[in-house]
Amino acid sequence: MAILVIVEGKPKSGQTLSPVNFAVINAVQQLSQPVHAIVVGGRAEDCATQLSTIKGVDQVFYAETPGDHWLAPEQLAVFLKDFIDAHDYSHIVAAANFAGKNLIPRLAALLGNEPVTEVISIIDDETFERLSYAGRLVETWVVKQEQQLLTVKHSHFSSDYQRQHPVSVVKLGNFVNQPEVRCAQWLKNIDSEDRADLSTAKIIVAAGAGIATQGEFEYLIKPLAKALNAGIGGSRIAVDKGYCGSDGLIGQTGKSVAPALYIAIGISGANQHLAGMQASKCVVVINSDSQAPFFQHADYGLVADAKAVVPVLIDYFTKKHLTGEDGNG
Ligand SMILES: Cc1cc2nc3c(=O)[nH]c(=O)nc-3n(C[C@H](O)[C@H](O)[C@H](O)COP(=O)(O)OP(=O)(O)OC[C@H]3O[C@@H](n4cnc5c(N)ncnc54)[C@H](O)[C@@H]3O)c2cc1C
Repeated sequence: MAILVIVEGKPKSGQTLSPVNFAVINAVQQLSQPVHAIVVGGRAEDCATQLSTIKGVDQVFYAETPGDHWLAPEQLAVFLKDFIDAHDYSHIVAAANFAGKNLIPRLAALLGNEPVTEVISIIDDETFERLSYAGRLVETWVVKQEQQLLTVKHSHFSSDYQRQHPVSVVKLGNFVNQPEVRCAQWLKNIDSEDRADLSTAKIIVAAGAGIATQGEFEYLIKPLAKALNAGIGGSRIAVDKGYCGSDGLIGQTGKSVAPALYIAIGISGANQHLAGMQASKCVVVINSDSQAPFFQHADYGLVADAKAVVPVLIDYFTKKHLTGEDGNG
């Protein structure tokens, strides 16, 4: 028996694998069984070669699709079911990110298993901890089934990795000239192209309803993020107001992030928002209301109008960059 980790590939050539994948590989080490990794999609061979050198991975499988094309989750689930049926896996694990959340329930339905989602701790083969009620409750699930399907909340596991001598890499049939297979093209979001990826960003500037207009967002949030080389995220209200796309939503229904520094500006600190950022190492809250609940979760709090203090921060960090000092320090 072995564990299968489903690896998310790379959207662009030349990129390294997302640290999210390393967090999943680290998460399953607790199970002390051989770990197989599989990657399917464009540039899968390149990903597989990198994976084979990551300590904790015992074998790698890959299947290529042409160019920038990635299989839609419906198709990937069908492909993986056939692969899994031909092997002997006790656990099938993916990250609890957009790709994993799309895939694992479909795969579970095909395999006839119950998935355990958003796992934060693997206790043993059949015992898993997961968060519920917007992160306020830790549930312990004991799941007795022959094959476990998990999504793991990658922000709760280390994404550090060590190298090893490459293990064996097996090429599976590719999808070229198979017209019946629908492919999903990697959609380019022009607006977010030059922003740091939230799941890997060391610094995140997050905006809330306290940023009253799109103009304030452009004038306050974007320049601060640029000065800090930070990713930009937002609360549900910031997303609903159109300040950032839905891929910038942080919280229960959005992304889980774990940056070294999280700067929340004009966000009240609702549980549903906290659920997505509570793994942040250092939290700075800027809010004009001293009673805002977010202050209870802050390492540093500033009771102030964002319009008054953020320009000062932008000025300070921009000058720091210009003088060659490290803004990430
Ligand atoms: C099932 C469910 C799932 C949800 N999922 C999510 C989720 O994933 N992510 C999420 O974020 N929310 C989520 N929500 C919504 C959540 O409950 C809150 O409504 C939302 O997070 C509030 O956003 P906010 O803090 O930006 O707005 P508000 O709660 O309105 O807070 C705005 C804050 O800005 C401050 N402020 C106002 N003006 C200024 C100023 N000039 N300078 C500084 N501060 C100022 C105010 O004092 C206030 O604290 C969910 C809700 C439900 C029911």
